[in-house]
Amino acid sequence: MIDPFDRKISYLRVSVTDRCDFRCVYCMAEDMNFLPKAELLTLEELDRVCSAFIRLGVRKLRLTGGEPLVRRNIMSLFRGLGRHLKSGELDELTLTTNGSQLARYADELAECGVRRVNVSVDTLEPGKFAEITRRGRLETVLDGLAAAKRAGLQVKINTVALRGVNEDELEDMVGWAGTEGHDIVIIEVMPMGDIGGETRVDQYLPLSLVRSRLQRRWTLDETDYHTGGPARYVTVRETGRKLGFITPLTHNFCESCNRVRLTCTGTLYMCLGQEDAADLRTPMRQSEGDEALEAAIHEAIARKPKGHDFIIDRRHQRPAVGRHMSVTGG
Ligand code: SAM
Ligand code: SF4
Repeated sequence: MIDPFDRKISYLRVSVTDRCDFRCVYCMAEDMNFLPKAELLTLEELDRVCSAFIRLGVRKLRLTGGEPLVRRNIMSLFRGLGRHLKSGELDELTLTTNGSQLARYADELAECGVRRVNVSVDTLEPGKFAEITRRGRLETVLDGLAAAKRAGLQVKINTVALRGVNEDELEDMVGWAGTEGHDIVIIEVMPMGDIGGETRVDQYLPLSLVRSRLQRRWTLDETDYHTGGPARYVTVRETGRKLGFITPLTHNFCESCNRVRLTCTGTLYMCLGQEDAADLRTPMRQSEGDEALEAAIHEAIARKPKGHDFIIDRRHQRPAVGRHMSVTGG
């Protein structure tokens, strides 16, 4: 699959549910309306559409959400998709999780062939953790991280930089991740979905500032390490671990974009920051064979836009993209 800008599409991210057991302040409103269950692709349909993408050239698959591990029987999907790792058609099966269910599932994920997980942790202070996530407990997530380590999973920590909330902790978190043997990625708040009272202008903390503060404590060595994704990586000399920065608002990462995103209802977004999308559920349900589905995928890739246009400033208080991150999958 090659898009109009000559980018090879080899990475699919799938939001397997829009539901979550947390309500992180930058991601969701307190009282979210979730999709009716009937709208969702079944686990069998998710397997079918992922398998079609793999046939067409996807080498890396990430399950996300919402919280992927709260979807009932989700392990059957991991187990099923693991067959593509065994056959060599897929290089990597990963997930992004808030870690709340990781203690329970870490071993099983490893058995399914998962080697790496991204776990979101924005603070190491229990009270602040409860405030940011509105429902989460830090201790449960730390137990999950310990279980992941025991199961041999490599962990990458995702931390959203929030002005006035965790900005004073980021230096310590880099040290903590190093001690635990985890890479860490710091993410700038993106303007996605209405989140109720707060505005993103209040939450927004530019990573250029974060980076210069981190440099007071840590030596950040440039690397040419790249995942094809939006993160730019440095190595923290003192810990030897990688530190990534995702700066969608201050940098453009689109030219090397190799990914597309599928929602839990079977809508394919060719760009995280654009509204254009393709319905894959209808062609999939139209017939038992996959010809119509594959044609719809090819047609969608041919429309992948050049890039996004996120903006957060005082004149643009509304989200640039109406849907929440939990719909498209972060
Ligand atoms: N529930 C899982 C988790 O939290 O890791 C997976 C889904 S979550 C939407 C994926 C990632 O997106 C998380 O690291 C989260 O912090 C990040 N995220 C959510 N909303 C965001 C926003 N508006 N701006 C930047 N990052 C966001
Ligand atoms: Fe849930 Fe992840 Fe969104 Fe937090 S960031 S509310 S854990 S989907």
